[in-house]
Amino acid sequence: EIPNVSVPEAVLAAGRERPDAPALIDGLKGDVITHGQLAGYVDRVAANLHARGLRKGDVVAVFCPNTQWFPVVFHGIAAAGCVMSPINSLYTPDEIAFQLKDSGAKILITISMFMDRASAAVEKSPVDEIVVLDGAEGHANLFDLLGADAPSVTVDIDPANDLVTLPYSSGTTGLPKGVMLTHRNLVANVTQCLPLLKTGADERIIAVLPFFHIYGLTVLMNQGLALGGTVVTLPRFDLEDFLRTIQDHKITRAFVAPPILLALAKHPLVDQYDLSSLESILSGAAPLDEQLALAVEQRLRKGADSGVTVGQGYGMTELSPVSHTTPDLDAMPPGVSVSVPKGSVGFAIPNTECRLIDPATGEDAAPGERGELWVRGPQVMKGYLNNEEATRSTVDAEGWLHTGDVAVVDDNGIYTVVDRVKELIKYKGYQVAPAELEAVLINHPEIADAAVIGVPDKESGEELPKAFLVRAQGSEVTEEAVMAYMAEKVAPHKKIRFVEFIDEVPKSAAGKILRKELKARV
Ligand code: ATP
Ligand code: MG
Repeated sequence: EIPNVSVPEAVLAAGRERPDAPALIDGLKGDVITHGQLAGYVDRVAANLHARGLRKGDVVAVFCPNTQWFPVVFHGIAAAGCVMSPINSLYTPDEIAFQLKDSGAKILITISMFMDRASAAVEKSPVDEIVVLDGAEGHANLFDLLGADAPSVTVDIDPANDLVTLPYSSGTTGLPKGVMLTHRNLVANVTQCLPLLKTGADERIIAVLPFFHIYGLTVLMNQGLALGGTVVTLPRFDLEDFLRTIQDHKITRAFVAPPILLALAKHPLVDQYDLSSLESILSGAAPLDEQLALAVEQRLRKGADSGVTVGQGYGMTELSPVSHTTPDLDAMPPGVSVSVPKGSVGFAIPNTECRLIDPATGEDAAPGERGELWVRGPQVMKGYLNNEEATRSTVDAEGWLHTGDVAVVDDNGIYTVVDRVKELIKYKGYQVAPAELEAVLINHPEIADAAVIGVPDKESGEELPKAFLVRAQGSEVTEEAVMAYMAEKVAPHKKIRFVEFIDEVPKSAAGKILRKELKARV
């Protein structure tokens, strides 16, 4: 079922059938790379990495925002049998240096805008060569990388064992960990997800979530290319650029994270653009509230039967990353005809087994009860780099990956993710999910954004929910008003005990609330 081939072979196959069709478009400049050109460039990058002395298994770090050259570079690295370690665009030199050292990277590929941080990091690392795609004096550039003179290489790749990428987990809960993903992991995940899209080569996907995060790499980049479709890149999320790109490039599908949906639901600019080409929005990477999903569908509805469907997927770096998603309406699993509730993450994707484990007993949770989600399938990582202990405590001897997230499943096999086990606020024997409180808070018309953490109460030893809130423009909503609103909406043990107004909720580039930063402030 899973083709036993390398990532470039699997992902670039459909494009070979339609070499003149656009594969990658720069959403700001409009530059096009066709599928035919992409295959040719990938061959050149692989040849040149080889000519530079890089060999199978060598790690190549990539520190770049989304551009249409990122996929060229990634597949070139993969075709050379090397391993791409993508670096978060927001990282500081110290954070970059940590990853360069930990991954054992041999070279670093970046852009001139990132050169200051890149060279500061490289000084503290084993890397001895920097390639600057758009040029910098004294360094190789994209032109060199694509140079015509190096002979093509064919590298023997063992898809089940050879690594293709070494992303670092987001570091939301601790230090980022290097996640070893094989060619087979990624090929499996693309193969598992594609049948759930009712789609074809005319699909145009907007790629604003970063390719350096596994969601961007597998879902936006590789799924889009594997369809033989078109991936339109944006270097960062700017609402106007995003809306204009959807309008001008007739985008059909957007893979996003909750902060983008928040903007689509609430921002006045949205009404000024023609978004009618958009058929599907899929959210991932962080909890999505049902009301928010519905609000976006409603706002973008054009007529009785035209509009956009908002769905949700769930995953983690260690799962390459997808294990659950809402299928397109016409791609439901055989025999299932229920509609998937908004706010759920849909079904386990094909070839993926799941268990929910009751943390108190270590046994399978009773039907309908919450438990820690365990996942087994071909997308489960090979392990953490240089960290056997963490690997053993995450993937057990039977191959089950313990996600650290709490979920619940209904009779139809539809899963809902509650929150991370570690984030649950423990109060008088209850476990309160910050994500649930945040969802209620952002539904308040005067609240633009919200984040909740538990703060320890010295007297009782309990944890009490504290909300960090961003007021909507022009609003002067008070702490008392918010607490009264919440007291009406949620059970007493979930009441917000403290409120602090802030300008912006700290979030990662992939759209996750950085609760650890908020905790540090308390
Ligand atoms: P680290 O493991 O380094 O602390 P991280 O877990 O944030 O960082 P990722 O692998 O990028 O790193 O994120 C995976 C996590 O994101 C999941 O474990 C889960 O908590 C969260 N997540 C992903 N999708 C969803 C979703 N649809 N709903 C709720 N949470 C989600
Ligand atoms: Mg994690």
